[in-house]
Amino acid sequence: MPKLRFSALSDATKRTPVKLDFDTKTLNAKIFGINVFDRDKMKKYLSEEAYESLTQSIDEGKKIDRKIAGQVASAMKAWATERGATHYTHWFHPLNGSTAEKHDAFLSIDKEGKPIEIFKGDMLVQQESDASSFPSGGIRNTFEARGYTAWDPSSPAFIMDNTLCIPTVFVSYTGEALDFKTPLLKSLTLLDKAALSVLEYFDKDARKVFATLGWEQEYFLIDEALYDARPDLALCNRTLMGHAAAKDQQLEDHYFGSIPARVSAFMHEFEFEAIRLGIPIKTRHNEVAPNQFECAPIFEEANLAVDHNQLIMSLMDSIARKHKFRVLFHEKPFKGINGSGKHNNWSMMTDTGVNLLSPGKTPKNNLQFLTFLINTIKAVHDHSALLLGSIASESNSHRLGAHEAPPAIMSVFIGKTLSAVLDELEKKVPNQKMTPDEKTELKLEIIGKIPEILLDNTDRNRTSPFAFTGNRFEFRAVGSSGSCASPMIVLNTAVANQLMRFKEDVEKIIAKGIKKDEAIIQCLRNVIIESKKIRFEGNGYSQEWIEEAARQGLPNISNPLEAFKTFLWDSSVKLLTGNGILTKRELEARYEIRNEIFVKKVQIEARVIGDLAINHIIPTAIAYQNTLISNVKGLKELFPDKWEQLAKHQLGLIREISEHIHAISHQVNEMVEYRKEANHIDDIVERAHLYDKNVRPYIESIRYHIDKLEMIVDDEMWPLPKYREMLFIR
Ligand code: ADP
Ligand code: MG
Repeated sequence: MPKLRFSALSDATKRTPVKLDFDTKTLNAKIFGINVFDRDKMKKYLSEEAYESLTQSIDEGKKIDRKIAGQVASAMKAWATERGATHYTHWFHPLNGSTAEKHDAFLSIDKEGKPIEIFKGDMLVQQESDASSFPSGGIRNTFEARGYTAWDPSSPAFIMDNTLCIPTVFVSYTGEALDFKTPLLKSLTLLDKAALSVLEYFDKDARKVFATLGWEQEYFLIDEALYDARPDLALCNRTLMGHAAAKDQQLEDHYFGSIPARVSAFMHEFEFEAIRLGIPIKTRHNEVAPNQFECAPIFEEANLAVDHNQLIMSLMDSIARKHKFRVLFHEKPFKGINGSGKHNNWSMMTDTGVNLLSPGKTPKNNLQFLTFLINTIKAVHDHSALLLGSIASESNSHRLGAHEAPPAIMSVFIGKTLSAVLDELEKKVPNQKMTPDEKTELKLEIIGKIPEILLDNTDRNRTSPFAFTGNRFEFRAVGSSGSCASPMIVLNTAVANQLMRFKEDVEKIIAKGIKKDEAIIQCLRNVIIESKKIRFEGNGYSQEWIEEAARQGLPNISNPLEAFKTFLWDSSVKLLTGNGILTKRELEARYEIRNEIFVKKVQIEARVIGDLAINHIIPTAIAYQNTLISNVKGLKELFPDKWEQLAKHQLGLIREISEHIHAISHQVNEMVEYRKEANHIDDIVERAHLYDKNVRPYIESIRYHIDKLEMIVDDEMWPLPKYREMLFIR
């Protein structure tokens, strides 16, 4: 009798909500950002001069004066130690998608041998980091295992677990970026410049444009004991086997249903911590699948939002453990049940608080709105494959195109109202100079017609990977486990690049003596025509769309290895290197790293399913088969005449079990051989290709037989918690 499954089940069903050890009635506004060294605290702890200098550097992206850095460091230390912090760390996002930190105590010994707490300017600004085990794609081999982390003052320092965390970039000693933040910051600066220069046509007050990001994070929860009883979950974050439960999401009774008390306690606690860390968490609800939930904050400046997403993922992970849960960010932890994504809501906003993707009250404001909307569509059109590439991963490939998540075809949905406006602009703008009447008609009839509040009348097309939702675009193909930074880098850069081109085109027409508004409208019309084929309003899951998109030549990239390659396409290299976001060497290094991560993921899954099949499943199947065999033998002894008829069911099962056992063991052997073959190949891209082509398919086909056995073998004997047991938190 497999003890683990049943003891886990018994633990899981007996659990009660964890008692929260904080005042649960605390108002969020009262504790918001209490653990963040934000502007209020800077003001309080810094001299006026240092405060001015620091905020100016932050606002204008300027380098921080070394002298000021010393003052900032001691102010941070004073604040942090008052709040009980004993350590500090540079906090960064290496390319394996996690966050990294190495804690050092403030403690030091002075010349007289007395213990003191110190934190100096150079400890804040830059640190050498022996981080040789982080992926670098050959940029930084282990001989010169030096990289360094450098303070990013645009994301404020915070305290977590008694440690002062300083957000930093992570670069190699030779200057190449080894993280997501470095290119993200570059893309944000680029977008700021490009958008401002187009904005000059409409609004002369704005001094800065920043990208805004509001992410929605989906995740699964599973009881800790059940998680521990599933080696596949524990090692791969997804189940590699498990027959569908008789009931899962088909009744759609989980979505927006009431949240179980244990889950609610968990949510309450991580939200409490998130609010204290200045993460403006706002929304929580159940998702479509059983045990699936979502949280979303109020949007923020994109760099901060990216940091906050990383932070909340680690926060949720640690607080889930306290509540005897494990949180799963894998995009597809359970077969046949909806997976998890991370919708990235994106827009551009001025320092004067104007959302550039929000329709305005006047035709002039609407022209501004249309300019940014249409150029964004064009940017997505021009770099659609790269956008898909930016969110591709081994795990996300299980979800994309699975008729529950955005398809692997890139398209943009803007809704009926705006489609009509764009179509009319396309039709009605004449090729030659406009007459005053034509201009007035255009302004009043088309541009002036956009309703101020589109939010409520954009139809919500859930099947679109990139949808306009009234005052922002929502990129839905992003995976739940991935970093928001990667798609944000591509989107910011592509839009910035397009805005710069647009500006040049408009200027050329103005130079011919045509008025500004008319020049803008003419260029918009061209952009609408050039980007038309990326717009799609229909059902993204339908077969017709797959065919139509292929006819239109739209990229449909479901294979992650193909998707990684898009970063090396000429158009992508031109976009990213031409705009100074990533060098060719950095692009190649990143490509290598992604292939390497792919190989490792598939390799681990292949090993785990192989081990489970041979050590858990086959022995269980044989044990059950033996009970059937002795039953048949007994029947034969008792009923020598009609035993065959009496044992018909059992005989059938005995045969079936043998067939599945045979198939499993045969396939595991083949898979191991293919793995060995692939492991001999030095070239990482070629190895990844072999893993994809030869190893990966076995994970599914071995699973098929295991799931069949699960339905045959006596429930009492089955070693692993079943879907129906894992998926329903009481
Ligand atoms: P839904 O599930 O209907 O898409 P949610 O309320 O769950 O809506 O999420 C909407 C997300 O969009 C939130 O994170 C919100 O902050 C974000 N958002 C709203 N306005 C903007 C904006 N201008 N820029 C970026 N994100 C935005
Ligand atoms: Mg959404």
